[in-house]
Amino acid sequence: MTPNRCKSIRKRLLAWYRKNHRRLPWRETKDPYRIWISEAMLQQTRVETVIPYYERFLSAFPDTAALARSDLQQVLRVWEGLGYYARARNLHRAAEMVVAHFDGRVPDDPEKLRSLPGVGPYIAAAVLSIAFGRPHAVVDGNVKRVLSRLFQIEAPVNRQGSAPLFQQEADRLLHRADPGAFNQAVMELGALVCTPKSPACGRCPLNGFCGSFQSGSVSVYPVRDKKKPVPEYAIAVGVVHKKGRVLITRRKPEGLLGGMWEFPGGKIAEGESAESACRREIAEETGLFVAVGERIARVRHAYTHFKIVMDVFHCAVESGRVKLSGPVDFAWVRPGQLQDYPFPKANRKFIPLLVGDG
Ligand code: SF4
Repeated sequence: MTPNRCKSIRKRLLAWYRKNHRRLPWRETKDPYRIWISEAMLQQTRVETVIPYYERFLSAFPDTAALARSDLQQVLRVWEGLGYYARARNLHRAAEMVVAHFDGRVPDDPEKLRSLPGVGPYIAAAVLSIAFGRPHAVVDGNVKRVLSRLFQIEAPVNRQGSAPLFQQEADRLLHRADPGAFNQAVMELGALVCTPKSPACGRCPLNGFCGSFQSGSVSVYPVRDKKKPVPEYAIAVGVVHKKGRVLITRRKPEGLLGGMWEFPGGKIAEGESAESACRREIAEETGLFVAVGERIARVRHAYTHFKIVMDVFHCAVESGRVKLSGPVDFAWVRPGQLQDYPFPKANRKFIPLLVGDG
C-alpha cells in the first residue's frame, strides 16, 4: 500500500465516520475515566447491552475516587449481568492505584497506563488516542476484520501469533493527526458496514481500495483457524434451607466469576446422578450434609469457552456445620435479600423461583 493510497483511505474513512457514526454516550466526552470505563465494558460485549450499564456505573461511580472508595461487592452488583467479572474487579483495583499513585488522574503515559490491572494494548490505545489524542492504533475484532479484507491478510485473525502483524498494519494506516476519530472510524466501519456476515460493500467508502472486494474474494476473509467444539458440563446446585434462610457462598476473588456469590454445587461426575453430585459437592464445599429434595429448575447457560446445564434442588440440612473449602465466605439470607448480592447470570435465572418461598 503506497503512502498516497493510505492517505486516501484515511480521508475517505474519516469523512464517512463524521457523517455516519452512531451517537453513543461515551462519544460525547474526552474524559479518560469515562472512555476507559466504556472500553472496558465494550470488550466482548455489544454496544446496545453496554449503554444502560455505562450510565448506571457512572452515576454510581462518577470518577476514579468514587470507584476507589467503593466496596468491591457494590461494584460487582452494578456490573452484574454484563459478564466477564474480572473486568469489574480490575477496574476497581486500577482505580485504587490511580488514586494512590497518580493523584486520581488517569495517566496519559503509555507505560503507566499499561501498569494498571486490566489495561491491555487495546484499552491503552483506545484511552490514549481518544482521550489524549496520542497516535496509538487500536486493534480489536472489528479492526482485524476490516484490515484483513482491505489488505487480503492471510494470517488467521483468531491466532495469537497474528497479533503483531495486525498491529503493524493498523499502525501503518493510523491517521496520526486525529488518531481518536480514526480508530473509532475503523471500528465503526466494522460494526456498521464491514460486518462479519454479508458486509455492505456496495455502500462502503473503501470499496475502491479494498483488495478482497476488487478481487471478488470478500467471503474468503478474514481467515480463521477452526474453533474447537465448546464442551458442555452438567452441574448440580443446592438451595440449602434453614429457618427461612438459604445458604449462599462467595467465590474466591480470582478467576472465573471471582468475588461473586452463588449457591453451592459443582460438576456432576461420570456415572453420578445429579442428586448425588449435589449432596457430595455441598459436603465438600461447605461441610454440610444435606437431604436433596425436589428439583427447582434446569438452567442452561453459555460462557465463552463452555456451556453448562445446571440442575437446581431444594435441600435441607441433615447434619454438620459450615466449614468452607473453596469458597471464601458464606451467608444465610432470606430469599428476599438475594437481590442485594452480586450473582452470576446462571444463578439469577432461578432466583425468582425462590423469592416467593420465604
Ligand atoms: Fe469490507 Fe466490503 Fe468495505 Fe472491503 S468493500 S472494507 S469487504 S465492506
